[in-house]
Amino acid sequence: MKNHRSEYNLKKPEDLYKFRSSILSWYRFHKRELPWRKSPSLYKTVVSEFMLQQTRVVTVIPYFENWIRNYPDFLSLAKASEDEVLKSWEGLGYYSRARNLHNLAKIVSSWKKVPDSMEAWKALPGVGPYIAAAVTSIAFQKVEAVCDGNVVRVLTRIFSITEKFKDGATAQKKLQTTAQSLIDQDHPGDFNQAMMELGAIQCFRQSPICLTCPVLNFCTSGQAGAAEQFPKLEKKKKKKKSIHRYWIESDKGLLLFSNPRSKKRLSGIYELPESMPSSMESKKEAEKILLTKKRTIGNVDYLEKIIEISNYAENEIELECGYRWASRKEINKLTLSGPHRKWIQEILD
Ligand code: SF4
Repeated sequence: MKNHRSEYNLKKPEDLYKFRSSILSWYRFHKRELPWRKSPSLYKTVVSEFMLQQTRVVTVIPYFENWIRNYPDFLSLAKASEDEVLKSWEGLGYYSRARNLHNLAKIVSSWKKVPDSMEAWKALPGVGPYIAAAVTSIAFQKVEAVCDGNVVRVLTRIFSITEKFKDGATAQKKLQTTAQSLIDQDHPGDFNQAMMELGAIQCFRQSPICLTCPVLNFCTSGQAGAAEQFPKLEKKKKKKKSIHRYWIESDKGLLLFSNPRSKKRLSGIYELPESMPSSMESKKEAEKILLTKKRTIGNVDYLEKIIEISNYAENEIELECGYRWASRKEINKLTLSGPHRKWIQEILD
């Protein structure tokens, strides 16, 4: 790539001023109408930021709307049971976010005065530097820059940053200071949202729309037609994993499993079991593959086979901890991992 310099230097106050005004006026005119931006509040900001972690906006919208109907504020969320909260989260994945949000609501609703500092927010469950900066800048106008994946893309392109980052999280950490150096002191919340919005709807991973970009004048790689070369991230080797899930029915229903020891991830969330309870023995010849599914989580490609065991011997021992039978009615009421709910429906239909 030919090295391209911008006529602007984002260290000079007058250039910084132009950059900030360009992106802020673009944001005010072009931002998407999203439910958490309608009559914004601290609560809506917190809920949306929790939901949006690792999840796309289109997926989050119906969940967010439903959530606000069920739990309109911190207090109503705090009063809900964990089962209800998990059920409302079903299908969004990464359930520790729901538990943390629930615990956070209990703490916040007990406060007389809600603190506005990064430090106080970072001490809350599930709140890392990104959420703390987003919440305090958007809700309290604190000058705290956010640096998520979208912001990394915009920054590495503006400055043509050639450093190769180990992964997205490392890039976010390393570019935090750069993001902080650009933030508008008077409108930090809007500025943060503008940077993220630019990454989401203009500075696409592939085919960014540089020609109409509000910050093209400041963007070295955009001007050089080389935006797609940034950010530079080390390529991770994909791993493959094959998993067998069991489909076992009895007159008590379908056998499901929820790992009682998985505190963080999936406790309280039911799945088709990966192994049979020790009180059962299968006769190998009675196994049949019902469904084969592929899915990717992070850099792992999973191949999941759902195997029906139709002929098994059940000892007179009770099912061990974590297993349960569930009738169709109960399946609807329980919180299931999103993909498992779909697979079960596909097999039952
Ligand atoms: S000019 Fe292009 S690469 Fe640069 S920020 Fe705008 S959309 Fe992204």
